[in-house]
Amino acid sequence: MRITFYGATREVTGSCFLIEVGERRILVDCGLIQGSPAHERHNHDPFLFDPAGVDAVVLSHAHLDHSGRLPLLIKRGFKGRIYTHHASIDLCRIMLEDAGYLHEKEAEWQNRKRERKGLEPVEPLYTRNEGRLSARQFHGLDYHETAEPVPGMSLTLHDAGHILGSAVVELGLDEGGEHRRVVFTGDLGHRGTPILRNPEPVAEADLVVMESTYGDRCHRPWSDTWEELGGIFREAREAGGNVLVPTFAVDRTQMLLYTFNRYFDDWGLGNWQIFLDSPMAIKATRVYARHGALYDTHAAAFEATHGDLFDLPNLHFTETTEASMGLNSIRAGAIIIAGSGMCTGGRIKHHLKHNVWRPETQLVITGFQAAGTLGRALVDGAHHIRLWGETVRVQAKVHTVGGLSAHADQQGLLDWYDGFRGAPPPVAVVHGEPAAQDALVAALRSRTMARSMRFGETLDLIDPGAAVAGDVP
Ligand code: ZN
Repeated sequence: MRITFYGATREVTGSCFLIEVGERRILVDCGLIQGSPAHERHNHDPFLFDPAGVDAVVLSHAHLDHSGRLPLLIKRGFKGRIYTHHASIDLCRIMLEDAGYLHEKEAEWQNRKRERKGLEPVEPLYTRNEGRLSARQFHGLDYHETAEPVPGMSLTLHDAGHILGSAVVELGLDEGGEHRRVVFTGDLGHRGTPILRNPEPVAEADLVVMESTYGDRCHRPWSDTWEELGGIFREAREAGGNVLVPTFAVDRTQMLLYTFNRYFDDWGLGNWQIFLDSPMAIKATRVYARHGALYDTHAAAFEATHGDLFDLPNLHFTETTEASMGLNSIRAGAIIIAGSGMCTGGRIKHHLKHNVWRPETQLVITGFQAAGTLGRALVDGAHHIRLWGETVRVQAKVHTVGGLSAHADQQGLLDWYDGFRGAPPPVAVVHGEPAAQDALVAALRSRTMARSMRFGETLDLIDPGAAVAGDVP
């Protein structure tokens, strides 16, 4: 029995791990590669295994860097089931169809350029319809329900506390009288995150495949973040303009809306009109509202006394383009939550055009902004930005709220690891930039054998300790 690492090695995207036990093959995650255009072209590369030869897939959670190549795997011959939490299926229905739509748009744009050059057209990675149809192969599980995706392999999901339905994946593998247990963290949540429960510990493992997104960082306490946000809304009220909040559709939006509900009076939110201007975030919010059984005790108690976590008296869902354009004429008193989270596309760009040149506007950045994105330029203090070929002056006040991460920090990762009983299992570190991976490996080495994995590397699961301790081939 063995595992091969086909993604999220020395980087945070493209999670994809192949487990082989005898003749059986299962894949854990099949994520999209995200980053620069040159890097993203690798999504079109052939898989380094035969998709038709994969018996089943286990999906840790719905984020595209874990799920986004599933429709492609199916297009290239995968016929088996995709095991994941019920809530992840609901989120994937929205996200994979939307991803297919964006791939179609991307191919159309490229083909217009290619046609002018006399080049053959390119195909989209997959279409909106292929994204939608992939839902037919999903098989939903609850946390702690055990399944047998293939003979000789058992599967249990544990709550990872990262986004709704996110799971730590525990696989029991049997071959020739040998039994091994491999645990994949997927993405581990940030303790104390609103709505979701804390990442659940797992009792035993022979090998842990661990994410390291924030393996070199330490988050500030949640209370500091709430104080900071409250201060921004008070300041915004005095400034007398609008507040723009570029957002990630899944999780960050729901976290913000629920927090608005909790601090509604403290933050003076009754003085504002709040607009959720993102069709994808609106759909994701409805999914979160349907899965109250997954909430933590605070959110469950809030729901029991107040009803829907996301039901604010002055919240408006603007689904249509016309409704969104209607916001352009509002000069003051609006909190506009819109995608995309890094201002690279979506409706937020229109709101920037109409507001970012006004000194009374407040721009609230709530997530990581990758190098090269418009969001990053704003965080870095750009005086002018370019929007559809037009130069726009930046006079808005930009606030960067850093504490809203959905990922555990280094201490959070180590605390979760310390939940294992018995001999500390060796750790294969994945899903982090090199500095974050190396910092986590260094921190883990006082506890166990740990190493950062390389692309295409295979580990023997009969003796994973020796495999992790061995040199990089
Ligand atoms: Zn994730």
